Amino acid sequence: MLRTHTCGELRTSNIGANVTLSGWVQKSRDLGGMTFIDLRDRYGITQLVFNMDTNADLCNEARKLGREFVIQAIGKVAERSNKNKNIPTGDIEIIMDSVQVLNPSKLPPFTIENETDGGEELRMKYRYLDLRRNPLKENMLLRHRMAIETRKYFDEIGFIEIETPYLIKSTPEGARDFVVPSRMNEGEFYALPQSPQTFKQLLMVAGYDKYYQLVKCFRDEDLRADRQPEFTQIDCEMSFVDQEDVLNTFEGLAKHLFKVIKNVEVDDFPRMPYDEAMKYYGSDKPDLRFEMKFVELNELAKGKGFMVFDSAELLVGINAEGCADYSRKQLDALTDFVRRPQVGAKGLVYVKYNEDGSFKSSVDKFFDQAALKTWADAFNAKPGDLLLILAGDVAPTRFALSSLRLEMGDRLEIKDPNVFKPLWVVDFPLLEWNDDSQRYHAMHHPFTSPKLEDVTILDSDPGKVRANAYDLVINGVEIGGGSIRIHNREMQKKMFQILGFTDEEAQSQFGFLMNAFEFGAPPHGGVAFGFDRWVALFGGQESIREVIAFPKNNAGRDVMIDSPSVISKDQLDELKLSIKK
Ligand code: ASP
Repeated sequence: MLRTHTCGELRTSNIGANVTLSGWVQKSRDLGGMTFIDLRDRYGITQLVFNMDTNADLCNEARKLGREFVIQAIGKVAERSNKNKNIPTGDIEIIMDSVQVLNPSKLPPFTIENETDGGEELRMKYRYLDLRRNPLKENMLLRHRMAIETRKYFDEIGFIEIETPYLIKSTPEGARDFVVPSRMNEGEFYALPQSPQTFKQLLMVAGYDKYYQLVKCFRDEDLRADRQPEFTQIDCEMSFVDQEDVLNTFEGLAKHLFKVIKNVEVDDFPRMPYDEAMKYYGSDKPDLRFEMKFVELNELAKGKGFMVFDSAELLVGINAEGCADYSRKQLDALTDFVRRPQVGAKGLVYVKYNEDGSFKSSVDKFFDQAALKTWADAFNAKPGDLLLILAGDVAPTRFALSSLRLEMGDRLEIKDPNVFKPLWVVDFPLLEWNDDSQRYHAMHHPFTSPKLEDVTILDSDPGKVRANAYDLVINGVEIGGGSIRIHNREMQKKMFQILGFTDEEAQSQFGFLMNAFEFGAPPHGGVAFGFDRWVALFGGQESIREVIAFPKNNAGRDVMIDSPSVISKDQLDELKLSIKK
């Protein structure tokens, strides 16, 4: 070994020991008589000391060591006179006997310290240098621990990890596929899996009963902070279960991770029907760290001669507690916020419940003090509160108010990053209408089963059918989702009909699954969690890029290896592909 210890392990108990360390030169300080080097490896930083009086040659050699040189350092552990309480090795230093350069380094393009001067693109290009930095290293370690703990939990309760193929078949449902041309089958293509959905169901047909996999999935979608073209799922499926069994099993996983990773005990996760989530939070992933529930005012405020309200489908608001003293400027800023195209409201109505019990609102012309008092009562508001109200069609108004609710959560600093509020959102609609394609799409995916009690209206009122589908939401982030599946050929066929497939299309694309259902498919259901998102949430990161070793940029490019890239004419010929210029 080129070292006896790592750069993170020496303590006062090692004082006097002769040690050999290997690592990278993070920083060197030349104080004339003495030169200090911070030597870094994955485990930490240790201070090396070179003394001009006792060993001038060595000290001169040390002065030549540049940042990020890889060196081997031999010396004796000594107590530091000037202790550094910020690092675990801060009580000791190594008095150097010799150093050897194992490999020099060019000057790095940005500083490799906790706070760096490197811009995003530069750090992506030199990701291997960025990964040397503590914050990213911590994220990688967190990711590793969460993966190990997930496997431990599942192993203990009898789940087995089974790999499913990456070269599969392209299907039209869901997001866009990445495709891979087949050399051996001219003109034909594989698709990379958007998830192992059909394979895990086939594993249930095969009798494997409890399956999981930490698995890469691929979706060719436009990218955002929480999306990458390839990402990792904790994918799970089990047989002979109903919805509550599935929720309890995976709630167990979540609780285990909370306990061992975050050291928090979380209460049992509430189950909230989708309709309730939409009505009270305007979102299917409500952030429950704060209340600020929606209150609808249709009954109280419609039909009183105020056109904006009278012509609206929905009047709905939130109570920003203690905000009655908001200035004109602050209210204008909120109005600008809701008018942003991403939020989409036309305007914002406010009602200030003044400390003296009077009201001041933006609709004083239409509503007197007594009317405003009835609104305030509906919100359970007290003097000092501020009501913020939107009006319009149901879905966009709920959406806009949900954005405003989160914005107020930020402004009032009531979204505590150290508080975790998980919940299951249940009873999602089975289908959603798509105006572009003029047909229903599966809200979750086409393999999700309808609720038994809603099957009778599948033909007459498909939009009203609820599914045995659920999402795990933590602090407003959708961490995962799943469903109890259809396990019967006839029902699956019917589902494809509702989704606008001809029987031939359904058979050619999903025949393998429907055929399998005729050979004794057990009732089954499962879930998949977005592993990157979960790690990001636990690591307090906004973007999943921070928890992926080698992510892609917003244009879907890996700027380090410069991919995607053109391929040679020979490769194209071999694949019988041509590129039109
Ligand atoms: N395969 C689904 C997904 O990727 C999850 C599931 O239904 O288990 O969203």
